[in-house]
Amino acid sequence: MVRRKKIKIDFEEAKKDPYKVLFAILRKQKYHIVGHHSAVKKCHWTHAALTEGRFCYKCKFYGIETHRCVQMSPSVLWCWNSCIHCWRLRPKDIGIEWDQTKLPTVDDPKLIVEGALREQRRILSGYKGNPKVNRKLLEEALNPKHVAISLTGEPSLYPRLSELIQLFHRKGLTTFLVTRAIRPDILANLDEEPSQLYVSFEAWNKEMYYKLNTPLAPRLWELSVKTLEILPSFTCPTVMRITVMKGINMSEKDAEGFAKLIELAQPTYVEVKAYMHVGASTKRLPRETMPKHVEVKEFAKLISGKTSYPIVSESIPSRVILLSRLKKPIRLGKGCPEGWRTPDIGGEESGEYGKYASEI
Ligand code: SF4
Repeated sequence: MVRRKKIKIDFEEAKKDPYKVLFAILRKQKYHIVGHHSAVKKCHWTHAALTEGRFCYKCKFYGIETHRCVQMSPSVLWCWNSCIHCWRLRPKDIGIEWDQTKLPTVDDPKLIVEGALREQRRILSGYKGNPKVNRKLLEEALNPKHVAISLTGEPSLYPRLSELIQLFHRKGLTTFLVTRAIRPDILANLDEEPSQLYVSFEAWNKEMYYKLNTPLAPRLWELSVKTLEILPSFTCPTVMRITVMKGINMSEKDAEGFAKLIELAQPTYVEVKAYMHVGASTKRLPRETMPKHVEVKEFAKLISGKTSYPIVSESIPSRVILLSRLKKPIRLGKGCPEGWRTPDIGGEESGEYGKYASEI
């Protein structure tokens, strides 16, 4: 087994300039920093697509061309939550203090878009000499078609999110926006909707929210519920993602609680997805908290039985089940033409996520 090198932190330097030290840590973790608060990181699935012809569940569920997808965050170190399962770099985990709730400055969205695409191409250029790589896929990958605004941190803390989405769209990319639903004001006022909007939940009531998501700002549970209330007003497909942790939020009672939220939000899709034991979360949760695919499926069946959402697809490697009332999938790209019926190549659930943090 290859052991990861421990990262040494210069605490004296961090007192003088915390961001210099924090960005140095992120770079060691293979994040490519863009401007003052954004980052791009290679997704595990980009690598799998290029070298093994295996595609992610977003390809199967939504038509995303895995090898042409950029995984980025406009808020890599900032969030209003401090979730138990999070892999974001956080003060408590590394002993360096910074204000996690506010971006230190606001970069121009053009700088972020161009920087993100430049860094993605830089990441991919490393594959040019790799004999395992499919040349055609690599050529296509150099011209990205999709961006997942997720990765880590809370993207709705970036005040120019609307312009960021618009700029990506103008460059011909689809956008998946993943948020923990804490800024209904920002979402309601987007001038342009993302191609698909994800809201992530681990808790179904306030008590649980305080335990699992540890909010750093007041009224976040109430704001999360407000976001669910406005979700039906979006015209883009919406996803309620429920991240499940064994022994924590997978009981019959939990299924009932989540079912009520689903009926309130009426999302296009529900994804029931296993927590992945990666990054800093490994210090807070034991590996056994990561449920097996069959356990995720059993829980998804419980939710399905309590809602009007049947199970329509699944991805074994990603331990995720898709529920929807749609009869036919809405495709947002040309990936995986067999859609929900695409077979899971190399379909066993493996520990491969141990090496990479991939938000979606
Ligand atoms: S909302 Fe996301 S980025 Fe923020 S602490 Fe939770 S998991 Fe981490």
